[in-house]
Amino acid sequence: MVGAACALYAARAGLDVRVVDRGPVAGGTTGAGEGNLLVSDKEPGPELDLALLSARLWAHLGDELGAAVEYEPKGGLVVASTPETLAALHVFAKGQRSAGVVADPVSADRLPSLEPHLAPGLAGGMHYPQDAQVMPALAAAHLLRASGARLHTGRTVTGVLRTADGTVAGVRTDRGDLHARAVVNAAGTWGGDLAALAGVRLPVLPRRGFVLVTEPLPRMVRHKVYAADYVADVASDSAALRTSPVVEGTAAGPVLIGASRERVGFDRSLSLAAVRALAAGAIGLFPFLQRVRALRSYAGFRPYLPDHLPAIGPDLRVPGLFHACGHEGAGIGLAVGTGQLIAQALTGKTPELDLTPFRPERFEQAGTDGGDTA
Ligand SMILES: Cc1cc2nc3c(=O)[nH]c(=O)nc-3n(C[C@H](O)[C@H](O)[C@H](O)COP(=O)(O)OP(=O)(O)OC[C@H]3O[C@@H](n4cnc5c(N)ncnc54)[C@H](O)[C@@H]3O)c2cc1C
Repeated sequence: MVGAACALYAARAGLDVRVVDRGPVAGGTTGAGEGNLLVSDKEPGPELDLALLSARLWAHLGDELGAAVEYEPKGGLVVASTPETLAALHVFAKGQRSAGVVADPVSADRLPSLEPHLAPGLAGGMHYPQDAQVMPALAAAHLLRASGARLHTGRTVTGVLRTADGTVAGVRTDRGDLHARAVVNAAGTWGGDLAALAGVRLPVLPRRGFVLVTEPLPRMVRHKVYAADYVADVASDSAALRTSPVVEGTAAGPVLIGASRERVGFDRSLSLAAVRALAAGAIGLFPFLQRVRALRSYAGFRPYLPDHLPAIGPDLRVPGLFHACGHEGAGIGLAVGTGQLIAQALTGKTPELDLTPFRPERFEQAGTDGGDTA
C-alpha cells in the first residue's frame, strides 16, 4: 500500500517510476490487515498530522476511485463503558480538536440512533466523522494502476546499487539490475532488511495481529466502532497479547473484528487466545454477534519501529535512498500522506509536513531501539 501510494504521487509529480515487489500486489501486510483510515485513535503529534493529511488525500482519491477501492467515509464511533473511561475520552478528544480533528460527543441515549445494535448500558461515546475505510488490496492495486508506474512483481531486491561516491544508482534484483537516481524503501515489515542492503540500520520489527471474519450479513454495523481502551492498546509498548476490538461492517457483507497486537516475531501459528479475546470483546460491543458464525481468521505482521512512528524521507547516510516504511497498524491510512511527502522530497520541494520526527537516522544512538528482539 505504501509503495503504491509513493508510486502514485511520484508519478503525478512527473517522475518515471518502477515498482519492484518479490510477491504479488498486496502480498505483504497490506493483504493481511484491515482498511481503517483513522484519525480518532491518534493523539496530537506528527502521526495525527500525517493522518489528517492522509484523510484529505483519501477523500480526493475516494472521489476519483470511489467504489473501486470500497472507500466509505462512514465515520468512527468510540464508545466508553464507564463514566471514568468516558471522562478520559472527552479529555483525549479535546486535545485532538486543537489539532484539527472533528470529535462530537454522543450521549448514552443517542448511541442507538448511530448504532442500533450496540450493547445497552454504555456510558456514552465520541463520533469522529473524518474516519473512513477502504479495502486495502483493491486500494493498492488501483493506486498502482492509476500511477501508470511499471510494475515488476515476483522480483526480489537483493542489493542496492551505488556509485563510487556512495550515491544510490538503482537496485540489484534476482532478475537483473534496475537503474535509478533514487530508491524508495517501501518494504514494510522487511524495511530493515532492505535498509541493510544499502548498509544502514533501520530497526523495523513485526507486531502480529489477528482479524476475525464473520459470515456475510446485512449492514448491521454502520460505523467503525471500538472501545475507548483501544487507544491505550495501540500506544502500548507491551510485548504481551493485547486485544480491544474494532468492529466494522464491509461492503461485501462480512463483519471484520480486529485486531490483536503482540510481539512474537514472524510466528504465523493460530492463537486461540487472541481470536477468542477478539470475539468476546466484539460480542461485548454488539451482542447480536454471539449468534453469528466466524468463517475464518487471518494474521499479519505490522511493520513497527520502536517509537511507533514510521520512517519517511531521505536517508542522510546514503544519498538517493529514501524510506517509507514502519507504519505499524496505520499503514493503509497513512500511505497516501506518506506518498505525497515522499514525492515532494524526491522532487526537491519542501514537504508539507516537517519530516524531522520521521527521519530514518533517528535510531542511530545506542539504546534507542528499546532492546526489542521480537
Ligand atoms: C491485523 C492487522 C490489522 C491492520 N489494520 C489496519 C487498519 O485498519 N488500518 C491501517 O491503516 N492499517 C492497518 N494495519 C497495518 C497495515 O496493514 C500496514 O501498516 C500496511 O499494510 C503496511 O504497508 P506497506 O506497504 O508498508 O507494507 P507491505 O504491505 O508489507 O508491503 C511491503 C512489500 O515489500 C515487499 N518486499 C519486502 N522485501 C522485498 C525485497 N527484498 N524485494 C522485493 N520486495 C520486497 C513485500 O513483498 C511486500 O509486498 C493492520 C495490520 C494488521 C496486521
